[in-house]
Amino acid sequence: MIQNILLPLVLAFALVPSSQANAALNVITATEDLAAIAREIGGDKVKVESLARGYQDPHFVEAKPSFVLKLHRADLLIVIGRELEIGWLPPLITQSRNAKIQPGGQGYLDASLNAHILEIPTVQITRAMGDVHPLGNPHYWLSPENGRRIAQAMKQKFSELQPADAAVFAARYGDFDKRLAAAEQRWKAIIAPYTGVKVVTYHNSWPNFAVAFGINVVGFVEPKPGIPPSPSHTIALIQDMKRQNVKLILVEPYFDLKTPKRVAAGTDAQVLVMPPSVGGVEPVKTYFDLFDYDLKLLVDAIKQTGAR
Ligand SMILES: [Zn+2]
Repeated sequence: MIQNILLPLVLAFALVPSSQANAALNVITATEDLAAIAREIGGDKVKVESLARGYQDPHFVEAKPSFVLKLHRADLLIVIGRELEIGWLPPLITQSRNAKIQPGGQGYLDASLNAHILEIPTVQITRAMGDVHPLGNPHYWLSPENGRRIAQAMKQKFSELQPADAAVFAARYGDFDKRLAAAEQRWKAIIAPYTGVKVVTYHNSWPNFAVAFGINVVGFVEPKPGIPPSPSHTIALIQDMKRQNVKLILVEPYFDLKTPKRVAAGTDAQVLVMPPSVGGVEPVKTYFDLFDYDLKLLVDAIKQTGAR
């Protein structure tokens, strides 16, 4: 009788080592863009989940208790870095009591270390001044070249943590790189007729996108990154947009449309809700979808408004 009860237990323990050896790497990412790229490189050899949703402002994510449990179980945490997540993620990492994923640990990957970062300040600025970009612009995933660099860092880290699957990660990276290069050509061709088109954006989320696709960002609805619109800044922005004949205002999905609409009314411009992240709007499910969606939205609006 006792033997009958114990036998399944014994079998279960006997199976643990081999099932662990074949287990997928448990990856938690700060944002959905990182998760999307991690899925491209990891395939079924990794299990990926993002903490932030793509329709949330990545600077200000509401921390849920479930995040701590997810971090506790993670083999690897991938962050955007450049202090993008400083307002919400560091205490959760501490609370996870997972030594592997602490900054500097083998299971902690800062994707910005391998990326091309724009707007690195030449003088020291602090968050106390209200600026949420003190270490350069953290929205760097919005250029395909940085997508490639992020993917490369993931390939290396996945292989380091799960060497048995290194060949799979290398092959998947090669395939991603090839598809991305083809897509880049397509994307650049779509926007090429409108090179230099002037836009205003709500938050300073788009410098890498602007450089990649020849878009001229001439101003922001926010007076400074992270600082809400003020009446005096809005008046100055309207005057500047009129002087420069700017017809497009791009707004990230998580911002209030009240001020952008007022600016649009004062300048005869069009407001576009443009997601800077995978998951920012329902149809954008992959890293490729993000550029397909945003560039189509932009080009359609350029044609409609005659923006230049
Ligand atoms: Zn920002």
